[in-house]
Amino acid sequence: MESICKYIKNTINTEFSRNEEFLNYLSVPYKSIVFSIPFKKGGKIQTLKAFRVQHNNDLGIFKGGFRLSPYVSLGEMLVLAFLMTLKSSLWELPFGGAKGGISIDPKEYTEEEIKQIVKEYVKKLNNDIGEDWDVMAPDLGTNETVMETIFNEYSQINKKFSPSITTGKPEYLYGLGFRKFSTGYGVAYATDIALKKVGLKNPRIFIQGFGNVGRYAAVKLYELGYKISGVSDSKGGIICENGIDINKLIKVKQEKGSVVFYEDCKKVSSEEFLTEPCDVLILAALENAINKENVNAIKAKLIVEGANFPIDLEIEDTLLKKNITIVPDILANGGGVYVSYFEWLKGKTSQNFENEDLEKSLKEKIETLLNKTCKDRNIRKNCYTLSLRKLYEIFIKKY
Ligand code: NAD
Repeated sequence: MESICKYIKNTINTEFSRNEEFLNYLSVPYKSIVFSIPFKKGGKIQTLKAFRVQHNNDLGIFKGGFRLSPYVSLGEMLVLAFLMTLKSSLWELPFGGAKGGISIDPKEYTEEEIKQIVKEYVKKLNNDIGEDWDVMAPDLGTNETVMETIFNEYSQINKKFSPSITTGKPEYLYGLGFRKFSTGYGVAYATDIALKKVGLKNPRIFIQGFGNVGRYAAVKLYELGYKISGVSDSKGGIICENGIDINKLIKVKQEKGSVVFYEDCKKVSSEEFLTEPCDVLILAALENAINKENVNAIKAKLIVEGANFPIDLEIEDTLLKKNITIVPDILANGGGVYVSYFEWLKGKTSQNFENEDLEKSLKEKIETLLNKTCKDRNIRKNCYTLSLRKLYEIFIKKY
């Protein structure tokens, strides 16, 4: 939280960024919920740490992902919930910002165990969430099956069919087929448009992370005619001078569990991957991927933040001074929350939306946002300024 407020104070020079009362208001969430989920595994009781942070609902209902990851902590939730507030405001959605999760490594649990843990999470949060109050979505380590569990449990407890309690659900449960692709496709369109703006031709493209976001960014870029030269996941990275066959890579990842089993290419560690020469680096894995340790070794000319908060804000200036253009998370990966809005609406009104219409609308929205904010290389500052201005106007009127 402090890192974002410090960034706003030091980088943006406007009435609101100089207003200490406003910055103090933003630095404290509306509500932070920290609770335990005791769970019996292998004869032992584990006490799992669970969180839901509701940052701000001045512009609309709380909205934000639900993640299962060993790195989930209150600090992480606070930052990510704040980012959601900024993202919803930038994308002009009737949403605010929230984030939740449980600190576990989902790979160590069976599907049935995850289901039990998630049901307990919903039970304990029941009074603080709602279709018109706080709506969840998939994030790191969660998927449409987890969203289905949340929907089922919430509907059962409240004896009310409540499809809009989450987005990212299967299509047969008022989901939208396009939601699964939306974040990755949005990242690909943001990359395509930004490349044209900075004038980079035939770029060497690297993608860190090959989960939901990285995979579909790769699929769309490949479809748009770009060559993807490098991909990494938690087990390591691959670099192929002749380009990677993305459909083949998806099969390898599905069958063998990692991109490193793709043949006929150079293998590097996940850390080395980031500092290998490339023109475009799409960050679609974890927070803090570019940090004080590796910033000086980064060689990309364009960085697109598919993940949330993948660059330590304190070193962004170093990247900008190296003439690197950065498309920030709140713009680049907002496709997910944008399409989530239509899914939320479908659950409330039964109105359906076609994939082609959603994709066209997403592409146009990203283009509009980049046209507004790519006036100079500091796109993040321009995005934050747009988002915060609206929040500031409400703050001034309200208090
Ligand atoms: P995911 O769990 O589907 O995939 C994460 C990927 O990152 C996996 O391929 C994993 O192997 C890889 N990874 C983990 N550690 C790595 C490392 N050290 N180096 C390289 N790769 C590594 O998650 P996701 O849904 O694709 O989310 C990725 C990021 O995008 C997160 O920051 C998430 O908050 C953000 N995001 C996701 C969505 C969405 O709709 N899924 C929307 C907005 C933002």
